[in-house]
Amino acid sequence: MSQPGRLVLASNRVPTITLPKTEDERRSQSVGGLVSAVRAAMDKRGGLWFGWSGSSTAKPAERPKITNIGNLQLATIDLTPEALNLFYAIFSNRTLWPLLHSFPERVVVRHDAFRAYQRVNKRYAEALFSLLQEGDLVWAQDYHLIPLGAELRKLGWKGKIGFFLHTPFPPAEVFGILPWAKQLLEELLQYDLVGVHIHRYAQDLLDSMAAEVGGKITDNVFSSGKASVRVGVYPIGTDAEAFKAWGEEAEIELAKGGKRQPRKEKIIIAVDRLDYTKGIPERLLTFEHMLEHRPSLRGNVTMLHISAPSRARVPEYAKEREMVDQLVGRINGRFSEKGWSPIEYHYRSYNQRELAHFYREADVCLVTPLRDGMNLVAKEFVASQSKERPGVLVLSRFCGAAETMKEAIIVNPHDIEGTAAAIHQALTMTSKERRERWEALYKDVRTNNAVAWSESFLQDLAKR
Ligand code: UDP
Repeated sequence: MSQPGRLVLASNRVPTITLPKTEDERRSQSVGGLVSAVRAAMDKRGGLWFGWSGSSTAKPAERPKITNIGNLQLATIDLTPEALNLFYAIFSNRTLWPLLHSFPERVVVRHDAFRAYQRVNKRYAEALFSLLQEGDLVWAQDYHLIPLGAELRKLGWKGKIGFFLHTPFPPAEVFGILPWAKQLLEELLQYDLVGVHIHRYAQDLLDSMAAEVGGKITDNVFSSGKASVRVGVYPIGTDAEAFKAWGEEAEIELAKGGKRQPRKEKIIIAVDRLDYTKGIPERLLTFEHMLEHRPSLRGNVTMLHISAPSRARVPEYAKEREMVDQLVGRINGRFSEKGWSPIEYHYRSYNQRELAHFYREADVCLVTPLRDGMNLVAKEFVASQSKERPGVLVLSRFCGAAETMKEAIIVNPHDIEGTAAAIHQALTMTSKERRERWEALYKDVRTNNAVAWSESFLQDLAKR
């Protein structure tokens, strides 16, 4: 029997979870920012995780499929291929994603896709409502599920509902491009608490609510008519302890001189999903600029570039991949010498333990998105470093992470010459300065970790 007050999480997709035998296995399972952060809260409290199964079928079953994993219950539903295309591939990935990241020229506006988005959220709500118990704390995750709270209210759910937006929230004039801006903001009003990563997104969201819906703002609570919602700031974190332990493991392997050999050249690492928000072409052009203007770097610095495949069937992503492939080919063709190529490019994903090993070996990490809600790679890199010889983080000012990670070298990724100079500064920094910057960053990463993020949100939700 479940206890009252359990945590009910709703996300677009329910991750594949198996019962881990060891702590290390538990940590290795989590791939991706959202999963690793909410998993900590679910493990601790037990509860229910609801969402899409990952499968599509012409005739999905009405009732969710239930799987029990330890103290965690997974409840999943299937979607039709048509719903999946309109709700997920189009409205979520091609309308909301570019809009929320302030890429207005990429926003696809289609009424059929919006209607499907609303329909799928209604279906999610009906399936979830049948599983809810009095006292449950419901927590909806991310932009796929904005209408979920309002749909649950229509069905009569009176309990607490929270929502967390993992992307940025854009300035009001950008959000206003969406023909359904007002409706989505009214739907957000049906939650008790809406969380975002940083203060600027909270301000932008409140501004949009005031502009589109009209109402009163008092201490981050927006009220309009009978409805009121608190907008709170909860910067997501990482499992810093796990990355630290994996980083140390990499160091031991290197010292043993087994299959891992230390490299003689300096390593600049970059890790992201292949997404146009990540500024990958700008980053490659910056590295090309450096090789062109500082010939002494040739043969002495390698960029290890990991691009995890993402949304590969969405046309914008296929195009981005082509552009990245071409740039990597051009730069390697232009500068490679016997025994050295400037870019080691891996178009694949790694588990987080493997990533930590790469992070530990790197001298510099480039996190240079054009826009990013938070960016966990920045935090993972810091957590994986050695205290004695830490690497340097170069961080875009357009990441949520830049609001607190001020000891990184902060760059504007649109400015190729400026970013190239910053990377050079990182490569030549004294070890004293590297240690000072890293110590301050590590303190932030260790304190504001994944557990702190979910706990502080849930505490505030329970209080509403
Ligand atoms: N990641 C991973 N394997 C990869 C590349 C990335 O597990 O090959 C993880 C990475 O460790 C991080 C997440 O994916 O936790 C990416 O989160 P981030 O906030 O940086 O960006 P997002 O992909 O959510 O936009």
